[in-house]
Amino acid sequence: MTDPAAPSTDTVQTKSMDDIMALCKRRGFIFQASEIYGGIQGFWDYGPLGAQLKKNLRDAWWNDVVMLGCNGQNGPDGKPVRIVPVDSCIIQNPKVWEASGHVAGFNDPMVDCRETKSRYRADHLMCIGEKGDKEGQIYAYIENDDASYAAARKKLDKYKKRTLTDDEIDTCPLTDLSVDELKITVGPDAKEVGTLTEPRAFNLMFDTIPGPIRNEDNKAYLRPETAQGIFINFKNVVDTTRVSVPFGIAQTGKAFRNEVTPRNFTFRSREFEQMEIEFFCHPDDARAWYAFWRDWRMQWWQELGLAGDNLIMREHDTDELAHYAKEGAGTADVEYRFPFTAPGYGELEGIAHRTDFDLKQHQQHSKKKMEYFDPSRGEIAKNGQPKGEWYLPHVIEPSAGLDRGVLALICEAYTPDPDRASGVFMKFHPRISPIKAAVFPLVKKDGMPEKADELRRTLVKKFGHLGAIEFDEKQSIGKRYARMDEAGCPFCFTIDGDTLNDGTVTVRDRDTQEQSRIPMEEVPAFLAEKLGL
Ligand code: ATP
Repeated sequence: MTDPAAPSTDTVQTKSMDDIMALCKRRGFIFQASEIYGGIQGFWDYGPLGAQLKKNLRDAWWNDVVMLGCNGQNGPDGKPVRIVPVDSCIIQNPKVWEASGHVAGFNDPMVDCRETKSRYRADHLMCIGEKGDKEGQIYAYIENDDASYAAARKKLDKYKKRTLTDDEIDTCPLTDLSVDELKITVGPDAKEVGTLTEPRAFNLMFDTIPGPIRNEDNKAYLRPETAQGIFINFKNVVDTTRVSVPFGIAQTGKAFRNEVTPRNFTFRSREFEQMEIEFFCHPDDARAWYAFWRDWRMQWWQELGLAGDNLIMREHDTDELAHYAKEGAGTADVEYRFPFTAPGYGELEGIAHRTDFDLKQHQQHSKKKMEYFDPSRGEIAKNGQPKGEWYLPHVIEPSAGLDRGVLALICEAYTPDPDRASGVFMKFHPRISPIKAAVFPLVKKDGMPEKADELRRTLVKKFGHLGAIEFDEKQSIGKRYARMDEAGCPFCFTIDGDTLNDGTVTVRDRDTQEQSRIPMEEVPAFLAEKLGL
């Protein structure tokens, strides 16, 4: 049996998650939520650099998807891709979630440990035991968690009174175990055997009670995805704008899931942000649009700097597909190899052909007609014009996680470099880097601060809406460069004695550390080109 979830011994992804998390805290990218009160599991706050990085990623998505309609390219029908935005509420009528299937079916299988009172997602637990050993003990560990795996190995070796080789060990997901096998299983943090309960369904939706009367009848939910806010507004958008199928509706915003085991930093949080598109098309065109979206979304992430072997596109096998998607064109995930998933990958974005499942559900539950009248289709009438056709559009859904995107960009950018003062630099694509440029007077005298401030003001006016323009006149220039390396600022411009004589400034490139001189008046054009403007 292969062990897909065994922790990595692979050398491709050698970055340490602990180091990355330490930098995120040290430089103000990401903080634990409620940190001064000991934190709260599954919730994270973004600091100044992280908030700007997150905004830059959200803006890049909004710009390329909504404003430029897939960067201005034509769709498979040879026409411009049309996408319009909505901004729907986090709390909706609870019937929305009954219709979508979330009330009945948005469950994760969960197991409890009676000994340690820990709760785990059953599909995130793996088990090891000696091959062919029917009577022996089985040891559970948390998938992709090195410490948990090492502890399970140690317990197994101790039980067997010798060190087993990898070839002698059998691995399988806990969900594959029978009830009898569960009785001889030791939980990840437990000492006793058989303390794990059978997996039980656990609904992931957070509930709340709007209004003053606190009873079950008034229960509502925090949305677990932004998608349903789009489906329930489909008719409103069609009736109030001049869009015609094929077109898409896009939305970004917070989603909430009471994840059983939030972990891996922001990767699995209980509050997170999504960037979702529901693209409506005629059922006959769904295959072509699915292929279009799948390929373009992969390309989009690559262009933001997630290129190379760390990013893959994975088509789902049929047995992985949601029930409604089985008849569809397919489902694919854009996946990134995070340090904690290596050598495996974790999902950044799912692209799914959802057929007409959601519109049909809302049509049935709300009793409101969701069908679309397409005047360009149907039989040809005597006057030579099509008679038109009523149909429920099919949907292609590219659904991305903003926080997972930020985390992937942070992991990819993190570049250890023992030869520089900071020991590490963040190699962000200039388009998404939170600080776009830094301006430094070499020393705080001889008119240098004034000259530097002149350049700062010019750059703020031109580029300030895209990110910070840093100005720093304290400490040695080496320390200032080091700070910018850790923040991922792509270019530093230093004003020195020569600037006052010949009007040139030093440009320092973050990635190569090379320094060159250019005329100060050329800095805005230089930066605009580097930022791809
Ligand atoms: P997973 O299998 O990892 O739980 P999912 O398939 O349930 O994810 P979707 O429902 O398809 O995820 O949600 C779309 C996107 O939202 C995901 O690709 C991911 O980027 C993001 N996402 C989902 N759950 C979380 C979470 N708990 N924390 C952060 N991001 C999430």
